[in-house]
Amino acid sequence: MTDPDGLPPLRQVVERFDLAPKKKLGQNFLFDLNLTAKIARAAGDLSDCDVLEVGPGPGGLTRALLSAGARRVVAVERDSRCIAALEQISAHYPGRLKVIDGDALSINLPALFDTPPKIIANLPYNVGTELLLGWLTTADWPPWWQSLTLMFQREVAERITATPGSKAYGRLSVLAGWRCQTRIQFDVPPEAFTPPPKVTSSVISLIPRAEPLDAPLKTLEQVTAAAFGQRRKMLRRSLAGLGGEDLLTRVGIEPTKRAEELDVSAFCTLARALSKE
Ligand code: SAM
Repeated sequence: MTDPDGLPPLRQVVERFDLAPKKKLGQNFLFDLNLTAKIARAAGDLSDCDVLEVGPGPGGLTRALLSAGARRVVAVERDSRCIAALEQISAHYPGRLKVIDGDALSINLPALFDTPPKIIANLPYNVGTELLLGWLTTADWPPWWQSLTLMFQREVAERITATPGSKAYGRLSVLAGWRCQTRIQFDVPPEAFTPPPKVTSSVISLIPRAEPLDAPLKTLEQVTAAAFGQRRKMLRRSLAGLGGEDLLTRVGIEPTKRAEELDVSAFCTLARALSKE
């Protein structure tokens, strides 16, 4: 028996290639091709696109990306057990799927593409934030990728997309909001995964801003880390090591404010002032 795309059902693939999910690799698989098709649609038209998928596992999302017409998918998977199952998909879509057996954290991902890819992934929870931070803090902007469509735990998705004044607003929200337009697309309940995680997940999208506010990345990272490292304290205390009250007064920010009250533009102002010191 085959699925509508002509490939065997994913549960059969997992059994045949002995892909019992491993917790330490963040393996929560999606077997519902309607859901993986919905994730692919959230990334917009793929027909002229190269796609980078991190962590294809048995290939549920990979198949959806190829069915949706992606010109070429490069899939980086750290679990060598999955490679044979992925090669089966590659044979079904000749010349369109390149499978790389390796760790996405240590591979030079931009070097795999001639034109900016869309990055679409059901990320392993244990390395998802680190990968996102790497993609957001590239030296060049616009970046080497076109857009990000990523699955995170709902709580992390809220932190990435949060606006000032909310509890979830923090360092990730500032870095993401500075360089991208961010949006939660839809939630995915635990039971959609095998095995089910403890919490709800969300698919989010990040579209690079053509012209983010001017701010040196290094000092922006410094100032957000210090401000949110002690988020309950007033900025004159949390930023004491970076110039504290003097710095804040100089740029017209009230020293009694707290990190969660500053918008992205205020953080950029602080980062610019700090870089001139
Ligand atoms: N995309 C598949 C799906 O939706 O069913 C699997 C998603 S699962 C949440 C995460 C996948 O990322 C696993 O297949 C895991 O082996 C892989 N993975 C974990 N760490 C990785 C890393 N550092 N580099 C590449 N892949 C990794």
